Amino acid sequence: MDGLMTPVLELSTGRLVRNVAAVRRRIAPSVLMLAMKDDAYGHGVEWVLDALSADPALDRFGSFDVETGERVRARRPHARVFAWATSTDGEIARALDAGLELGIGDEDYLRRVLAVARDRERTAAVHLKIDTGLHRNGVRPERWPAFVAEVDGAQRAGLLRVVGLWSHLAEASDAEDDAAAGVFRHALEVLRAAGIDPADTHLTASAASWWRPELRASVCRIGAFCYGIRSADGPEIPGIGPVATLSAPVIDARADTVDVGIGALHGFPSNLVGAPVGTPAGPRAIRAIGDTRMTVDAWSGASRGDAVTIFGPGDHGEPDATALAERIDTVGEEIVTRLTPAVRRIATR
Ligand SMILES: *Cc1c(COP(=O)(O)O)cnc(C)c1O
Repeated sequence: MDGLMTPVLELSTGRLVRNVAAVRRRIAPSVLMLAMKDDAYGHGVEWVLDALSADPALDRFGSFDVETGERVRARRPHARVFAWATSTDGEIARALDAGLELGIGDEDYLRRVLAVARDRERTAAVHLKIDTGLHRNGVRPERWPAFVAEVDGAQRAGLLRVVGLWSHLAEASDAEDDAAAGVFRHALEVLRAAGIDPADTHLTASAASWWRPELRASVCRIGAFCYGIRSADGPEIPGIGPVATLSAPVIDARADTVDVGIGALHGFPSNLVGAPVGTPAGPRAIRAIGDTRMTVDAWSGASRGDAVTIFGPGDHGEPDATALAERIDTVGEEIVTRLTPAVRRIATR
């Protein structure tokens, strides 16, 4: 019995399916590329793929790294998977063997990919990245024509095939995003003038895909909204709700406070004192957070084993992950992905 007094992350298959359907309806005719980084935002790559297995139309995934891409392809041998992290030569080789598509955002990386492709006698399927202002990764506009010329030569030599043009938005202001979209369109014109016309163009993630239809291109890379994680300081999204619900049992019930079996060592941020949790009697405040327990204001009839909901859809007065994140100036993704393997994952309908 005590072995089960651990925190639980419940993962709702139905909620994930409905979220993905709502996102798809919203962005059509753009195609959804489901972002799978950070172990599918802490939900588990394999669980997500299995939960969505009845949906053959969902065949595009964004993996970030090569290892995650390999895990996706192991479950979905025919899916198209885009790995945009700058990878080691060994990872590039594995990516080409596994049929992953690579994001290329600088000249050095382009040359490394070409060397591996030559070595392994493969054609790399690539998405070229223009820097539209985020300055994280991506070819600067002034270097774009020379980059495109180099890509063109490599494509003619059969070393690569350009399947996409992409970039990432700051989503800090509409004006900046509009300017970024202008840079993106110009980069596409330069590509086309060189005779390269990528089938995929993609610029937007969750928030811009949802709220800025004019910025959507042929593909939208979306993670957060599919998992039901709204933007920090953003509104609730109609038709979308949290896939993951975190709960933990009451370990000790006293007159004024109860101890709940979750703490910092489970990955719950210790600076969330004061946040509400959901209880059978509605919301109660967290008073203290230790390594493996937190102390919460009591409710009448509280007893050992009662489930306390830490974040979720709000059925018991609990906040969503983003509401917790907003208290400590981070994003909902952080709250979900930080949970350690000591939190049991349980799939539900
Ligand atoms: C994480 C990520 C996404 C998805 O962003 P969400 O806001 O979670 O939808 C898209 N593109 C890139 C490059 C990313 O890193």
